[in-house]
Amino acid sequence: MSCRPAPITLALTALAAVIMCVGCALQTKPGSSAAISVRKALASSLLDDPKVGLANFHVSGRHDSATAIDNIRHAAAGRRSHRSRYQRAPGGAIYLDTRMLRTLKILAREGYSFRVTELAGGSHSPKSGHYGGTAFDVDYINGIKVGWGNPYFRRFMKRCRQLGARETRGPGDSGHRSHVHVEW
Ligand SMILES: [Zn+2]
Repeated sequence: MSCRPAPITLALTALAAVIMCVGCALQTKPGSSAAISVRKALASSLLDDPKVGLANFHVSGRHDSATAIDNIRHAAAGRRSHRSRYQRAPGGAIYLDTRMLRTLKILAREGYSFRVTELAGGSHSPKSGHYGGTAFDVDYINGIKVGWGNPYFRRFMKRCRQLGARETRGPGDSGHRSHVHVEW
């Protein structure tokens, strides 16, 4: 007799597991309401952070609605951020990666000041993480232009890797003489 409730218990356990899995999947989806609210909070906080500079121009000199500050404003509004549409840039829009936004916030909280020159906008190499909303570029760290004369860029890149970035590039890497690239 004591074994009779077992199938029901098993069924309920299985149902709970399915619900939890669905919940997890939704949370990791960039367009889920949970991800959007996290992104909005992080982006709003970055807009208000005096240690975080957000370029309102492209280094290329092109004008569009995909500059770093445009990207963050759109994210703060719960929207997709625009990609540029010139040279290799594909146009369209993408949700910014919340891990990346969280890292920017942590870096500022840990004392770094920096200027972000590109997020999803700008023209980069084909298949660049920028187009997927998973990369950022920085050209000033602690008030000093990124380059061999900047004593902070190596530690900055290392910290980004510790915080989950899968790739960092900077002075010494081809095409990164004057900026740091961080990608998830
Ligand atoms: Zn880059």
